[in-house]
Amino acid sequence: MRRKLAAGNWKMNGVKAQLAELDNIRKTHPNPAVDVLICPPATLLSDAVKTVSGYPMMIGGQDCHTANSGAHTGDISADMIKDAGGTAVIVGHSERREDHGESDAQICAKATTVMENGLIAVVCIGESLAQREAGETLSVIGAQLAGSVPDTASAAQLVIAYEPIWAIGTGLIPTLEQIAEVHDFMRENMIQRFGTDTANGIRLLYGGSVKPGNATEIFAVSNVDGALVGGASLTAADFCPIIAAL
Ligand code: PEP
Repeated sequence: MRRKLAAGNWKMNGVKAQLAELDNIRKTHPNPAVDVLICPPATLLSDAVKTVSGYPMMIGGQDCHTANSGAHTGDISADMIKDAGGTAVIVGHSERREDHGESDAQICAKATTVMENGLIAVVCIGESLAQREAGETLSVIGAQLAGSVPDTASAAQLVIAYEPIWAIGTGLIPTLEQIAEVHDFMRENMIQRFGTDTANGIRLLYGGSVKPGNATEIFAVSNVDGALVGGASLTAADFCPIIAAL
């Protein structure tokens, strides 16, 4: 049985004062049956790990390099995230794909490094509005899965987040039928590639404008095992009702 996962991506938001919200999320974490992951900016990683120490919450990175160390100014490695106490890394977020021109092959290499370090890779995929309107959504998703998910993936170390680019930070969400179509497609794609046992253990998250007001209906959709949440993960007041809805 897949454990539900509520993952928060704080993006480039938060200085030390933001840790008070993490503490609030820890204190009011409403559902011990749900895994909770918060990915703060790299500057807060160690402090965030201390804040949730002893509680069933994970802290993770928002990106990493393909290498564990080397001459890569400004980058952070999966090894460093692990050293700071992180247990997961988001790779392939659409903001990385767009802002930094990351390709599926690079994302696959990053996910491989994350897994080799014993961490969970949260691999993000999703179509643009133009691709959806052109009827290309499933072919885009299929290509991104093929290119971004390593062959070495295991159910324990792989989470896939379906995040339509046009739904991120916009307040727009796909219809529930559209979410179901993509999530069912992703599950079937994983079954074809990894076999039923592995595929049925891989958690598939929906991401894009998840809020307390729409979480319950989204989480009722088939093959939605949780959410990757941006803006609404920044406060306990927004994030805890989302956890509770799982
Ligand atoms: C995200 O950045 O992964 C995201 C889903 O953002 P938001 O929830 O703010 O749309």
